Amino acid sequence: MSEIIDGNATAKAIHEELKAELAQLKFDRPPCVAFIRVGEDPASVSYVKKKGRVAGEIGIESRLHVLPESTSQDELNALIDTLNADDNVDAVLIQAPLPKQLNERDTFNRVRADKDVDGFSNANLGFLCQEDQRAFVACTPAGIMELLDRAKVETKGKRAVVIGRSLIVGKPMALLLMKKGADATVTVCHSRSENMKEICAQADILIAAVGRPNTVSADMVKDGAVVIDVGINRVPSTETKSGYRLVGDVDFKNVEPKCSKITPVPGGVGPMTVAMLMKNTLKAYKGHMKA
Ligand code: NAP
Repeated sequence: MSEIIDGNATAKAIHEELKAELAQLKFDRPPCVAFIRVGEDPASVSYVKKKGRVAGEIGIESRLHVLPESTSQDELNALIDTLNADDNVDAVLIQAPLPKQLNERDTFNRVRADKDVDGFSNANLGFLCQEDQRAFVACTPAGIMELLDRAKVETKGKRAVVIGRSLIVGKPMALLLMKKGADATVTVCHSRSENMKEICAQADILIAAVGRPNTVSADMVKDGAVVIDVGINRVPSTETKSGYRLVGDVDFKNVEPKCSKITPVPGGVGPMTVAMLMKNTLKAYKGHMKA
């Protein structure tokens, strides 16, 4: 039997810590995060709603800007520029995915580095590479590091394998694990990797960020490994009202008995992403109010 790492409980504890920290700060306005949502993608609507709700619980003000699906890059840029220039806004978050006419990379790069709480801009990814404290680290990998730390998973000298090389999860995840202090030996796999099964089977810590159910099967997992499942996949289900249920990238039922610790989906990495967004917003706020 493995230990199930409870992302919900850990995220809740972090929310309480942030709330307590905020209550100690005596600045003359609360922190403020601005969300930009383009279009009505149901997953984006739900994610932004959740982020706004958690912000409110902690005492962080949130503003929601909803733009139509047909928004042009110039229109989106104009809103980002306005929020960048607004001294009462600490954090700007643009909910991905964006409609096809918009360039995600240019959009993320337009957010001022000290308000880029998603950590997707070239400035913050550069700071992360340089191990510069100013970095706002992408929330999902930052949340995984926090989960590993709080679950007392040793990373120093361990072999970590990350499946996935996206800018949002895989790449920053690898950088965080290899960073001085974390000191893991990191291998990154992707869709062109050969011998992935053999590579994964050597991992002390295996992190799956692919977006495909059952990518990690039991024969890819070493006995006693720690398995972190980032994937969020909708699969049809007759047991739910919505007609689908969420699963990760890991074949949980068969992998769980082999590992020492594992995150579930839902209730593992997902809530930590929101908690780290709040933590980054508080960091931005403290930076602005002290400046
Ligand atoms: P992404 O941009 O689509 O990247 C997926 C990565 O997986 C790519 O690097 C891809 O390789 C690799 N890949 C695809 N098929 C593969 C295969 N068969 N074997 C090995 N590697 C394969 O996705 P993402 O944004 O990183 O997200 C990954 C998953 O995490 C998704 O399910 C997403 O919903 C979830 N997610 C969860 C959270 C959370 O808060 N829990 C946050 C963000 C994302 P190539 O580069 O070669 O194409």
